[in-house]
Amino acid sequence: MAKDFAEAFYHSKKWLRFREIYLDEHPYCERCLKAGIIVPAEHVHHVVWLTPENINNPYITLNAENAEALCQPCHNQEHHATAEVEDGLMFDGDGNLIQEGRGLGADS
Ligand SMILES: [Zn+2]
Ligand SMILES: [Zn+2]
Repeated sequence: MAKDFAEAFYHSKKWLRFREIYLDEHPYCERCLKAGIIVPAEHVHHVVWLTPENINNPYITLNAENAEALCQPCHNQEHHATAEVEDGLMFDGDGNLIQEGRGLGADS
């Protein structure tokens, strides 16, 4: 799987400790909380997803600013929704799916 590059990281003490502290400070799913629902968080999601390029960058991997406490359904939704994005498609700043190079005002 494409996630193999992150496996050592997810087993590292640095990450496990960061995760524990983060969940301590953010015990509830941050997305459900915004909708007014209190659900225990089960995952610490990276807002900027980990890639082979940033996996050794603690500013991405171990930064509370880049972390989001999510429940299982919200985490699934985040990854499932994005996994379906095909080549040439991307999300705009509002999370809408757009076609690359066909945004408003892009010249043809
Ligand atoms: Zn949630
Ligand atoms: Zn995630």
